[in-house]
Amino acid sequence: MLLDDVVEAIVSSRFLIAFTGAGVSVESGIPSFRGRNGLWRRFKPEELATPKAFRRNPLLIWEWYRWRMEIVFNAKPNPAHKALARLESMGLLKCVITQNVDGLHRLAGSKCVVELHGSIRRIRCIGCGYRVEIDSPPREVPPKCPLCSSLMRPDVVWFGEPLPEDEWSRALDYACRADTVLVIGTSGVVYPAAYIPYIVKEHGGVVIEVNIGDTMLTPIADYRVRGRAGEVMDEILKKVMEKLKSS
Ligand SMILES: [Zn+2]
Repeated sequence: MLLDDVVEAIVSSRFLIAFTGAGVSVESGIPSFRGRNGLWRRFKPEELATPKAFRRNPLLIWEWYRWRMEIVFNAKPNPAHKALARLESMGLLKCVITQNVDGLHRLAGSKCVVELHGSIRRIRCIGCGYRVEIDSPPREVPPKCPLCSSLMRPDVVWFGEPLPEDEWSRALDYACRADTVLVIGTSGVVYPAAYIPYIVKEHGGVVIEVNIGDTMLTPIADYRVRGRAGEVMDEILKKVMEKLKSS
């Protein structure tokens, strides 16, 4: 059975990492923010999540983020996040590299998390670079920097912006060391993030894909598990625990 082979691959791996995308947070009630939701239907994220849009209309961009922040701050980790945190605490999973900005991996208890696209739970000053964690959306938008009074923005990566250098180099380091990667809930279309599974593959590693359907990464996957991230990962975790108990 496919899942048994996947479990065997996980248990026998030397250096397992996970690479996650929006699909991992769907069961937490976080939409992909592709602009199909009521209020913001008229806009495409490509039009809102850019430095240019922010310069032109910081209030509009902040209203959009405040709405997204409301959703994220009310969301809870689902069984997919929890299974990954558990696999890490068991010593099997070395790190989670995520494209998500919702912070749910950390909230679920994952310790080693590389956030390639930043975090919506943090804001930063466009003037002096001051950063601060937040636990609720700013009451007044756009927020101003307490140090230099410049505008502050969400500390996330926008379209056309480079990835944070230290996060990207950490991700590359983990990808180069990995002999197995769990690719969960990502369509693999956003670069450079999507290079991660290719790097593992090129080093002779095993690629396990968990997704509801085929993606751009399916052709390089050694195992393709179809289903919702939370359901599949919960099942995998249970089987891993059974296997470890019986051996
Ligand atoms: Zn500042």
